[in-house]
Amino acid sequence: MHDKLHEECGVVAVFGHPEAANLAYLGLYALQHRGQESAGICSSDGREIHCHKEMGYVADVFRPEVLAQLSGCVAIGHTRYSTAGDTSLRNAQPFAVQCNKGRIAVAHNGNLTNALELREELEFTGSIFQASSDSEVVLHLVARSRERTIAGALREALLRLEGAFSLVFLADDRIIVARDPNGFRPLAIGKLDRKDGQRAYVFASESCAFDLIGAEYAGEVQPGEMVIAGPDGLTREQYVPARRRAQCVFEHVYFSRPDSIVFGRSVQQSREKLGRLLACESPVDADVVVPVPDSGVAAALGYSAQSGIPFRHGLIRSHYIGRTFIEPSQAIRDFGVKLKLNPVRHLIEGKRVVVIDDSIVRGTTSKKIVRMVRNAGAREVHVRISCPATKSPCFYGVDTPTQHELIAANQSVEEIRDFIGADSLAYLSIEGLREAVEDVRNEYCYACYTGDYPTDFVNIEALMTAKEMRGC
Ligand code: AMP
Repeated sequence: MHDKLHEECGVVAVFGHPEAANLAYLGLYALQHRGQESAGICSSDGREIHCHKEMGYVADVFRPEVLAQLSGCVAIGHTRYSTAGDTSLRNAQPFAVQCNKGRIAVAHNGNLTNALELREELEFTGSIFQASSDSEVVLHLVARSRERTIAGALREALLRLEGAFSLVFLADDRIIVARDPNGFRPLAIGKLDRKDGQRAYVFASESCAFDLIGAEYAGEVQPGEMVIAGPDGLTREQYVPARRRAQCVFEHVYFSRPDSIVFGRSVQQSREKLGRLLACESPVDADVVVPVPDSGVAAALGYSAQSGIPFRHGLIRSHYIGRTFIEPSQAIRDFGVKLKLNPVRHLIEGKRVVVIDDSIVRGTTSKKIVRMVRNAGAREVHVRISCPATKSPCFYGVDTPTQHELIAANQSVEEIRDFIGADSLAYLSIEGLREAVEDVRNEYCYACYTGDYPTDFVNIEALMTAKEMRGC
């Protein structure tokens, strides 16, 4: 059964480097924020594919003895987001199989909106699935293709997919990567000149992965494009005509790292602009601007610069919680948020505080933070959110809950203000968001704010049910 949508992941691929798996490991380490549930790498030495995947953080999964097994000059890697209800290793990626096309492996970021239909069709004609991942569907389509070459089979498979996907694919001596024709999820290309004068190629969800391994950012895989890195060098082809671009704006608002270039644009630059425009649209008479770290920091800097209100790190975040921390009991109020954040009373006491965060989803985080800031002695607490209200679920790979759990889908701004207990609350407008990412050619997806989905769905009810079944 397809019990879950597969969302929020990071992918890397390395071609033409004797330490391919080590580079993939470092790339995944830089992409850890995109997924903390499981990590995996498959490498190929031209004869065999070696794979390792485990639950946990990249740095814990890839111990030296594990990396030593992953030999070869090509590798792909994947890090997967943690969502409740589906924490099993069998869904960890990459997926590797032996089929009539040889040994192949695939990893994928995004969400196929016709995965259920494809899966039913494949199962009906005899395919057996081990997991509930969309990536496995891709492998079956490749295996069944009558095309003789890997590239041909993959091209045929890609044409059957709908929705959002940035795919990295490993076959014997080559890497093939592809992006969906709307370009929902990012996928960047990097070049790495080896000491011996040869050139290696790397691909990653975000350019911050290149910085760590000393690769040079060389642009994006284009929507509808397939790029092959093989013995003949790099070949690029448009496997399908690009459609209207629908780059996920939430990558710039929250998901990507600020030191990355995503969709050809600096994330930090977007976030500061979000904050500046928020200050123009929704000013407030206050004493300090305090970000919710880390997600609100860049926007708060922009808000402060634009408004002239001083920026202060009034909330300190612990970075060392780890996955296995056991919450002792419900007896301590707001324990979860206290573990993560603690206010600096000295900066907050007696002040009128503007708290900046990137988004309100269910409203529970903001409510706890407002209470925390008040308890630290704030005279007033004004909440400013650096994007519009999240009103519609995402079916393209961001982990938003269903409509009935999204507070802004069901309540007015005034009702949300009351719920979170703030003195005032304002969101950035859609126009402000467009301006911040300089979307002059209408190339971004804003569906989570507008409900205006850029693609048709074969079965929206099935997608909704899959979201419900995540159980988080
Ligand atoms: P909530 O408590 O449900 O309102 O969640 C809001 C918090 O979750 C904000 O601080 C955001 O930074 C964070 N957030 C928003 N969207 C996501 C997402 N898709 N994945 C993980 N965290 C998120």
